[in-house]
Amino acid sequence: MTTASNKHYQLPPVGGDPGIETDVTTPGSFANKPAILPGERGAKTFSSPDTPGMPPVSNKTAWDFLPEGWATSETNGSPQIESVGFKVITFSQADGSTRTVSLPEGFTPSTQLESARLGIITPEMSRVAEREEHLTPEQVRDEVAAGRMVIPANKVALGYDLDPMCIGRASKTKINANMGASPVSSSTDEEVEKLKWAEQWKADTVMDLSTGGDLNATRDAICRNATVPIGTVPIYSMIIGRKIEDLDYDIIMAGVKEQAAQGVSYFTIHAGILKEHIKLAKNRKIGLVSRGGSLLAKWMLTHNKENPFNTAWEDICDVMRGYDITFSIGDGCRPGGLADATDELQLAELVEIANLTERAWRCGVQVMVEGPGHVPLDQIEFNMKAQRTLCHGAPFYVLGPLVTDVFPGYDHITSCIGATNAAYHGASMLCYVTPKEHLGLPKKNDVKEGCVAYKIAAHAADVALGIPGTRDWDDQLTKARAALNWEKHFELAFDTDTARAYHDEDLDVDTDFCAMCGHDWCSVRISKEIQEWASGKAEGFARNGDGKTVKSAALTPEQQQILETRGHLSPEEIHKLAAKKKKKVAGEVEDAPSCHSDYVDPDEAAKLREQEKQQLVQLNTAEAHGLSKTDSII
Ligand code: SF4
Repeated sequence: MTTASNKHYQLPPVGGDPGIETDVTTPGSFANKPAILPGERGAKTFSSPDTPGMPPVSNKTAWDFLPEGWATSETNGSPQIESVGFKVITFSQADGSTRTVSLPEGFTPSTQLESARLGIITPEMSRVAEREEHLTPEQVRDEVAAGRMVIPANKVALGYDLDPMCIGRASKTKINANMGASPVSSSTDEEVEKLKWAEQWKADTVMDLSTGGDLNATRDAICRNATVPIGTVPIYSMIIGRKIEDLDYDIIMAGVKEQAAQGVSYFTIHAGILKEHIKLAKNRKIGLVSRGGSLLAKWMLTHNKENPFNTAWEDICDVMRGYDITFSIGDGCRPGGLADATDELQLAELVEIANLTERAWRCGVQVMVEGPGHVPLDQIEFNMKAQRTLCHGAPFYVLGPLVTDVFPGYDHITSCIGATNAAYHGASMLCYVTPKEHLGLPKKNDVKEGCVAYKIAAHAADVALGIPGTRDWDDQLTKARAALNWEKHFELAFDTDTARAYHDEDLDVDTDFCAMCGHDWCSVRISKEIQEWASGKAEGFARNGDGKTVKSAALTPEQQQILETRGHLSPEEIHKLAAKKKKKVAGEVEDAPSCHSDYVDPDEAAKLREQEKQQLVQLNTAEAHGLSKTDSII
């Protein structure tokens, strides 16, 4: 336990360190100490401490839901599980322990999950470990075997441009961007452009949710062009040109096979909503807001039969196993408003989703589970931990959730707050929400806004969870900021163009302050002048050149566009905001303003002080820092 020197407070137990640098003043993450261990021993990997009353972790994993005829043991090579017609495989897990698996002779693995169960490290697992620097290929394999990690990689897509990635709590938090043509908007070309745009803004997966235009052509084009896994909701294309009531087993299987062959890497299938659940929706404020959920509820009421995706589950698994497509089991009963969150219907469906998870694992198919939607902040941890308990750690993929309903137009922000909390408490992938949510089909800039908001959520959660190395980026930017190295500051910013444009809007020169506080009040500049504080902080980050100010590069067309989009102020008005006149600061030494510290001439400064005594601000901050005015460190 760390104790503060003044004895007035105690820090909580400190978990993993999210940064590699040791000369920092923060103690590391307050999350649980990471335990990347095989089987149930790793159930709490990168997890938040439970607040009282939270559901405990499950003591089961995908190892407990093997296909019929399989058996496993974590003791040292138990020969008892071998018998005629079966073979026994023994391999070392990442922590050095031994796992023994008994399975029917002649079995050939088809999915990442099946390979992991046999101790095989696939090329995709190795690639994932390269991309997740804190994980070894063995740890990736063990997490996949436990069902806590998925690698959505359709074999067809691997033949195109797909770069394998993973989703799971042992790895960094991922984000998904939704796109898709609707009957009233967008085209195939536009969707491919949006795909590339989402990849540029670091979406880890993309879902094609097209409900209009040429669905097949759009899906095919997206699968062929994507470097990220593509997900779909197959029921959408199954009902194009027909009524939902006409959906049957043959249509379902044909649709699933068609999309599988195109290279879709994960399917959202709303098989968790059952006939008995529908009556629970009538007390809700907004009923069923999932397209798949509402369509299937209508089908079940029309036919008085069980959800056809649920009854065909094993047959669907068979197709998905062949291509190694991952389930994203859809939450057809997700709440559509705060008032319906965590209600009986949502939790009843989650119980059935857990059953489907176990059934899919028995078929050797990888599983992630989809989650809510709209959840008040105080209920997010419970939602994440209830899923972890019921679904035995299968990766949770949540939409937002939005933590308030009253900010349409800003739902990328309301949901980003929920998403950050969700990731900290257990979600592995965050489905972005754009400013157009509830209002219309997102356009290019909405896709960017959504991606940026969700990269913030994912990164913030990863740092909080103590994933090694995740804070290095922040630490680098902090050092650039401390060194007032604007070029480095922009370069390290997630959105370089916007950061530079916002800076240059007021002061498009390289100075040792910015327009927010101005020269005289720039605390970073003042801190930098206190040499003892600055020592080491700016190593490798000193502004380049000979110490003279350097005019920033002119605005690029993209940066100019960012400013035009903001468009409130004329250039004259903008420059009036700057603390110093641009031309003077940008000019040669003899034109530079005398108040600029890089150029200040002591005689000139003294003269100015005499002339403008009343207007000048006291630059010596020694007294404010409790130091003598003549202290030698100033
Ligand atoms: S002027 Fe203010 S906002 Fe700008 S760098 Fe200095 S302290 Fe930071």
